[in-house]
Amino acid sequence: MNREEMMSRVLDRTEPWDLLVIGGGATGVGIAVDAASRGYDLLLVEQSDFGKGTSSRSTKLVHGGVRYLQQGNITLVMEALKERGILRENAPHLVHDLAFIVPNYDWWEAPFYGIGLKVYDLLAGRYGFGPSKILSTAQTIKRIPTLRTDGLRGGVIYYDGQFDDARLLINLVRTAADQGATLLNYTRVIAMTKDSNGYLNGAVFEDVETGAEYTIKAKVVINATGPFSDSIRQMDEPDTPPIISPSQGVHLVFDKSFLPRKSAIMVPHTKDGRVMFAIPYLGATLVGTTDTPVAKSYLEPRPLPGEIDFILETSGEYLQKPPSRDDILSVFAGIRPLVKENNDENTALLSRDHTILISNSGLLTIAGGKWTTYRQMAETCVNAAATLAGLESKPCVTKRLNIHGYHKSSQKFGALALYGSDAPAIQDLLRAEPSRQERLHPDLPVLAGEVVWATRFEAARTVDDFLARRTRCLFLNARAAMQAASKVASLMARELENSRQWQSEQVESFCRIGERYLQET
Ligand SMILES: Cc1cc2nc3c(=O)[nH]c(=O)nc-3n(C[C@H](O)[C@H](O)[C@H](O)COP(=O)(O)OP(=O)(O)OC[C@H]3O[C@@H](n4cnc5c(N)ncnc54)[C@H](O)[C@@H]3O)c2cc1C
Repeated sequence: MNREEMMSRVLDRTEPWDLLVIGGGATGVGIAVDAASRGYDLLLVEQSDFGKGTSSRSTKLVHGGVRYLQQGNITLVMEALKERGILRENAPHLVHDLAFIVPNYDWWEAPFYGIGLKVYDLLAGRYGFGPSKILSTAQTIKRIPTLRTDGLRGGVIYYDGQFDDARLLINLVRTAADQGATLLNYTRVIAMTKDSNGYLNGAVFEDVETGAEYTIKAKVVINATGPFSDSIRQMDEPDTPPIISPSQGVHLVFDKSFLPRKSAIMVPHTKDGRVMFAIPYLGATLVGTTDTPVAKSYLEPRPLPGEIDFILETSGEYLQKPPSRDDILSVFAGIRPLVKENNDENTALLSRDHTILISNSGLLTIAGGKWTTYRQMAETCVNAAATLAGLESKPCVTKRLNIHGYHKSSQKFGALALYGSDAPAIQDLLRAEPSRQERLHPDLPVLAGEVVWATRFEAARTVDDFLARRTRCLFLNARAAMQAASKVASLMARELENSRQWQSEQVESFCRIGERYLQET
């Protein structure tokens, strides 16, 4: 994954690309993996870093969605449960099972949720992650010793999948590259180009690092920009009405003491009728989320004080020691790219299914869906794109395509387990210079050598790329991440041959981002 090399492929190309994909989140990168592994030539452009948008800000669950079961959306749940199973098979180094406990404080909850979760097991069929069971009070407390015990009658345990969203995204980028795709971060589409019949035949993009503009030709253009879908649709047809109803979801991160064992808590019905999760995540506790309609989509959405209060209040109802604002290590928000329906006052009720639209000029927009179903979304989208562009029909192969780093027992690599089969190469790189084995910060589980790895092989271009997405430091402990920024800048500058001025601009810019993840109001 070398950006210069990828860029020179673009400059050298004289033929139109089979596909141009706009957007480097789960949707766009999933399409890149699918199309490249079928044998199509494609270029993917991302205006910021891969995963900078919603795809690094999820609850990090590979799940069927118990909530969609409550809403009666059986097809979506079944599809997602199947995809959950496929993803665990193709990326065992990144997806693992997690036990969820639904704590019961009312007499009717054990039979009610017990039966509901049995249906969830049944819908998973052969893709099941383990049978749900009703637990006694003692068994419940053993799994979640921090749970509020007064009035506790027991719990129901069920299993779902957990993953690190940005790490999966980066590994999918590498999978697509391994399959021959060309992918560029920091390249923003600024205009569409059309032929004399008004049919879309390419786009103009700007290299955000240099300001240079390039026009490229493609047989089909796919808009996979999630919450930003309308901006691309309006570049194509200025008067087209918006289709996205953006809705914000916030998560808070606390230390491990709030959830010291390996099980998560699932609250099936909060005051606003949503589900809420508290999940052990990379040595911390992740709690969320909310569903707040917002007027506009931003790359760095701002958590609202009311959303933070709501999560703190709900956590306090279930935990013996209610977390306070002082306990927050990081707070982050993401925007759901929900597709509008006629009556979209309540975004929590909008479908999480994906939508594919084709404009009069041939722009193919894919929006909505979930991380869990990215593979199936990509399959449907590439089928449609191939037909639209008149490409030779080629079958989808991603059901059985290993994701970069595939390793069946990567736990043996300890702290490097998430890198899967890349771990031995990273170990070599760490051994080559003793200073690379130093931790970047006492409160962050990351080594200096990982900066070198991410810059050389994972297209990290900025301090934010490394601290927010190649590793999750910003999401785990925003203050510590800000304190580590200058070390990261200096290591990256050495790799990229960038100046001292670049380093100080990077630190300043990262700290401005980091301020948003600190909650001190
Ligand atoms: C709070 C929250 C929790 C969630 N939890 C889960 C979960 O636990 N499990 C699950 O399965 N799903 C979950 N989801 C859903 C999932 O995260 C999203 O469906 C998915 O990440 C959307 O990916 P995307 O690629 O469509 O959008 P994005 O990730 O936002 O990607 C779109 C990209 O397009 C780029 N772009 C925009 N304009 C341009 C341009 N002009 N040129 C080039 N690039 C451009 C953006 O920079 C962005 O990176 C959650 C969503 C939210 C908000």
